[in-house]
Amino acid sequence: MLIPFEEFTRRADKIRAEIANACAGVGRDPSDVELLAVTKTHPAAAADYAARYGLRAVGENRVQEAAEKKPLTAAPVAWELIGHLQSNKAKLAASLFDRVQSVDSVKLLHHLDRAAAELGKILPVLLQINAGDDPAKFGADLADAPRLLETALATKNLRVDGFMTIAPLGATPAETAAHAARTFANLRALRDDLGKKFGTPLRDLSMGMSGDLTAAVAAGSTIVRVGTALYGTRD
Ligand SMILES: *Cc1c(COP(=O)(O)O)cnc(C)c1O
Repeated sequence: MLIPFEEFTRRADKIRAEIANACAGVGRDPSDVELLAVTKTHPAAAADYAARYGLRAVGENRVQEAAEKKPLTAAPVAWELIGHLQSNKAKLAASLFDRVQSVDSVKLLHHLDRAAAELGKILPVLLQINAGDDPAKFGADLADAPRLLETALATKNLRVDGFMTIAPLGATPAETAAHAARTFANLRALRDDLGKKFGTPLRDLSMGMSGDLTAAVAAGSTIVRVGTALYGTRD
C-alpha cells in the first residue's frame, strides 16, 4: 500500500529540512544535495509521487523491477540503478536507466561501455566503493578504486560522475553511527584524493540513506538515497 500523496509531501518536506539543517551546520548550500527517492518494492505510482513533488530522479535496486514499473509511470522522472548489477544485465540496464550508481568492477565497466555504445548513448555512472569495509556489501575495495576509476575514465561511452557507498550496520545504534561517519569520511577523502590525481571533478558523492543522511550530508554527500523515510517501511 502506498501512502497518500499529501503524506509523501509532508515526509519529503521534513527530509529537505533535515538536509538544510545538516548543510547549515557545515556551511554547505542545500541545493548541492539531491534527494533521490528510492522506490524499490513500492508501486509505480511512487515514482509519480517523486516527480509530482519535484524530485529529479528515483532509485531502484533491481533491473527487472524497474523494467516492469517504468512503463506504468506517467510523470517524467530520471531512473537510477542503485543495486548490484550482473554483467549479463548490463545491456538492459544501460537502456532503462539514466544513470547506474552501482558500478563495482572493471568487467561491469566494459559491459556497460559496450552496451552504451550499441545504444548510441553516453551513460553516466557512479563507482560503488565499499568504503566501510563491509564484508556483506557489494562495492569495490577502497584499494581497488584507483584502477576502477582509471578504467572508467578511459571508456568512450561512460561518464563518471563520482562515487557511491553504503555504510555497514553495527550491532548497536552507536556502532552504526560510528561506521557511517567512518565510511562517509573515507569516501569523501577518496574522492578528494583521486579527483586531484586524475584531474577530474568527480562531483557526486552518493551516500546517506533514511537512517544516516544527516551524517552523510555533513561529510559532503551530494545525493542522499531515501526510501523508508519517504514511503514508509518495505514489506
Ligand atoms: C534500499 C536502498 C536505499 C534506501 O534505504 P532506506 O533505508 O529505505 O532509506 C538506499 N540505497 C540503496 C543502495 C538501497 O538499496
